[in-house]
Amino acid sequence: MWSKSKNEDMNFIENKERLTPLLADLKKEGVKNFIGGEWQAAASKATFENQTPIDNSVICDVAQGEERDIEMAAEAAKKAFEDWRSWPHKKRRDILYRIAEEIEKHAEDIAILESYDTGQCIRFMKKSAIRGAANFRYFADQIIDAGHGDSMPDEHHINYSIRQPIGPVGVITPWNVPFMLSTWKIAPALAAGCTIVHKPAELSPVTAQLLARLADRAGLPKGVWNTVNGYGETAGKALTEHEAIKAVAFVGETTTGSHIMRQGAATLKRVHFELGGKNPVIVFDDADLERALDAVVFMKYSLNGERCTSSSRLILHESIYNDFMEKLKTRVGNLKVGHPLDPNTEVGPMIHSSHQEKVLSYAALAREEGAIILKGGEIPEGMSEGAYVMPTLVEGVTPDMRLGQEEVFGPFLSVLSFKTEQEAISLANSTRYGLTAYIWTKDVGRSIRMARDVEAGMIWVNSQNVRHLPTPFGGVKYSGIGRDGGDYSFDFYMETKNISIAYDTHTIPQLGV
Ligand code: NAD
Repeated sequence: MWSKSKNEDMNFIENKERLTPLLADLKKEGVKNFIGGEWQAAASKATFENQTPIDNSVICDVAQGEERDIEMAAEAAKKAFEDWRSWPHKKRRDILYRIAEEIEKHAEDIAILESYDTGQCIRFMKKSAIRGAANFRYFADQIIDAGHGDSMPDEHHINYSIRQPIGPVGVITPWNVPFMLSTWKIAPALAAGCTIVHKPAELSPVTAQLLARLADRAGLPKGVWNTVNGYGETAGKALTEHEAIKAVAFVGETTTGSHIMRQGAATLKRVHFELGGKNPVIVFDDADLERALDAVVFMKYSLNGERCTSSSRLILHESIYNDFMEKLKTRVGNLKVGHPLDPNTEVGPMIHSSHQEKVLSYAALAREEGAIILKGGEIPEGMSEGAYVMPTLVEGVTPDMRLGQEEVFGPFLSVLSFKTEQEAISLANSTRYGLTAYIWTKDVGRSIRMARDVEAGMIWVNSQNVRHLPTPFGGVKYSGIGRDGGDYSFDFYMETKNISIAYDTHTIPQLGV
């Protein structure tokens, strides 16, 4: 793990040196599936190539799991469930602590590999690995209470409820901050007593392998944690359709969520969806404008803008529009685009050249739809080798434009303006999404009214997104179903059972007497 002084000293050359042996291992071994405690090739022996978006070179081959691999993994998870569910709390807690320790020990490798595999900047990835460990610790500490329920006596019975693990679950994750997001799902599932089959995104398989390896090293029993790599339409689909899998925790695009709902219908899957967003940040004229500016820039351009909670629509009060935009233009123009392993870099390459094309296509669309590109919208000069996009700022966007509605998922900020509080609310609510919203005002009453009326699962007032693990995380409308965090996670990974015991005083109707 990085010490503080190491953090300060860390530089680009050191990071690249650290990467070299890790890459050599990956090239040699590739990324494998982990099923029933065994590392293995896909049953078909098929593989696909994984590239870095830094220069589109091949990192390694990845096992291309399909239905047969999912079948083996789901059966392994089913078999392991019977034992794992009944482990004593303390024993289960201790093993999750050990996973957290392993993650912390390897935080540097995780961050460097994640940066190289996804293009995410090292300055953010260090924290991401540590947050992964924190997720395991946090949910390990909740195990003792996870099974709690209520007591509801009636006149003749005592009723009480308990929660029990639902069974083997499927965890399907996307390519943005994949390490941290995977831990967010897997830690509460294991804490609840479920076993898992993880299907990582095909564009970012590297740290998912490392994570499973660390869990294995921590002593997790065989079959409790299984990882099957492969494409969504094959491996992912088979996972959502498998009879033994009782629930699917999915993070990804809204349209994929619809597919999963259909695929899981025949086996009545419980689903938890964390989907897309088009999140507004609303800045009133009475806000602390310097802090608001910092938050607007951070919440759109950090993590390459590939962040579900990023504020991609700035809704700005007309009286502060010109001043705020001048400062915003300067800040966006100053963002340092570069190699993600360089600690000075603020924006790295997009996950893949296909996503780079998608983001750039929205710049072309902005021009077509009559919006004005103030910054970016193209490949940065001299950076045609990787999947880079210049940080982009567009004004004159309206809700009737596609750009006002669709998730770009890149360093791409659209700006709208408003006159009245009511107009700000209706602009904020004008998309089908509802994940997060950010409100900047010093007027307490207004902040409470806005928080009530803006349609989103999570609202931050005078703040960027700061995650507090016990709080409910999730979206409304097309942004998701269900909540993560604290006890909300256990509601998903566990079944509630009611038990009713009679005092032997109630009447039992007699038939056939
Ligand atoms: P995606 O939906 O394309 O893929 C996500 C995962 O689903 C991948 O593992 C993929 O292989 C799998 N998949 C694809 N088709 C499938 C199918 N038919 N059946 C089963 N699995 C299938 O998403 P992405 O492009 O990897 O990620 C970006 C999206 O994720 C964005 O829309 C972003 O907003 C969203 N996201 C949301 C949150 C949140 O908390 N709401 C967090 C992170 C990312």
